[in-house]
Amino acid sequence: MNSYDVIIVGGGPTGLSTAITIAKKSDLKVLVLEEHSEIGNPLACGEGISTEKLLTLKNMPRVSQETNGSILKFQKEESFIEREIISQRFFFGTTGVATSNVNTVTINRPLFDKLLAKEAEEHAATIQLKSQVLGITKKNQNLEVKTQKKTFSAPLVIGCDGPSAHSVQMMNLSPPTEYVQGIEYKIEGVYTDALDFYFNFREFPKMHYGWVFPKKSHTNVGIVTDTASKPKEMLVKFVDYLNNSNMKKSAVLKEIAGIIPASGPIPKKYCDNYMVAGDAAGMTNSIFYGGIAIGIHAGMLAGETAIKAHESQRFDDEFLSKYQIRLDSFPYSDPVIQKAHEILYNKLSPEDIETFGTLLDGWDITTISSFQKIILLLKALKKPSTLRHINEVRTVAYGFSKSRDWGF
Ligand SMILES: Cc1cc2nc3c(=O)[nH]c(=O)nc-3n(C[C@H](O)[C@H](O)[C@H](O)COP(=O)(O)OP(=O)(O)OC[C@H]3O[C@@H](n4cnc5c(N)ncnc54)[C@H](O)[C@@H]3O)c2cc1C
Repeated sequence: MNSYDVIIVGGGPTGLSTAITIAKKSDLKVLVLEEHSEIGNPLACGEGISTEKLLTLKNMPRVSQETNGSILKFQKEESFIEREIISQRFFFGTTGVATSNVNTVTINRPLFDKLLAKEAEEHAATIQLKSQVLGITKKNQNLEVKTQKKTFSAPLVIGCDGPSAHSVQMMNLSPPTEYVQGIEYKIEGVYTDALDFYFNFREFPKMHYGWVFPKKSHTNVGIVTDTASKPKEMLVKFVDYLNNSNMKKSAVLKEIAGIIPASGPIPKKYCDNYMVAGDAAGMTNSIFYGGIAIGIHAGMLAGETAIKAHESQRFDDEFLSKYQIRLDSFPYSDPVIQKAHEILYNKLSPEDIETFGTLLDGWDITTISSFQKIILLLKALKKPSTLRHINEVRTVAYGFSKSRDWGF
């Protein structure tokens, strides 16, 4: 039997952040079990992340900020940063373009994950590849974690196994209830300076939104849709719609696809001897479906709780509830994000979204002030049919501002 102090299921950003936190701050014996033969491969991601979050997440590999400005300086010769971006544009149908000026970066995600893994190993965490977790069972005071070849044992297991959330089901907790599909082309050439988001329900019924993210020498163009739709057909139509003939003629370098939890954080993220973090816990931003920054942060909190659990020798449900109490105090757990998701994707019609565009055209959607709320009301009064949308606009705008706090 292979005994560890903490076993982490999954070697994505959440699992690696958890491993780094524990290995850096304690002498605990940490094992990460990853089913694939390589960290960061296969991987589906738009690769956009807010700069501020990147810098405040203390587990980021070798990142620092120059004190005299917002220019990032990377200490590592091999940077995972592809491009710095200073603005976002949100296209609502054809009626309006809202903006935001959150500093973001696009990253080389496979390299980013590999650097996190390197960081974890430098702090003496063990990463075992080709190790798919098939079952977790309680034995005496520990959990036994079974892979094809070996069985491991630890008093604490942390599920970071991504959207499939198998470990959550193995522990009889409730997994995410709703998913969306994401599909993306990596297209040769760069076609925008901003992170562009397209909400166009008239042209694309069932598409939640489409994105165009610039990288160093190529562009990530993708869409998110519900699970009943045919995403590939929609992506081809979306590229066509973007109306950039150069882009249409460019080579598709790669196609990637994956699923994303969309029902918000699961209600309970711990039980005896177990915590769950990241996509496995439904912890994505359910407006934009980004989850890298949230997963890394949740991994840090799970790691810190794991250290305290070992110090107190308490691995019971009551002690581990401290983890969820901390998670709930961060903006990404705010239920308004889920409400905004419901309004945007399950309630608003194409006409509604166009009204939304008319009301918000030219505004920074992530920082709507009280004064702007009054202007919003006056605009709506001029066109009484829009009045019923005011509260929805406010909820969605508030949801967007939480996204500003926690990245897209
Ligand atoms: C198309 C698409 C675009 C996206 N774009 C963005 C974006 O631009 N920005 C952003 O912030 N987020 C984006 N996301 C979401 C982001 O990729 C995820 O939120 C993030 O990867 C979550 O990290 P994680 O570590 O929780 O899960 P994952 O990255 O999924 O990692 C889980 C790991 O666990 C492993 N695993 C699973 N089951 C087992 C098992 N039984 N045993 C052992 N190992 C197992 C998997 O192989 C995987 O390596 C996107 C997602 C998709 C699908």
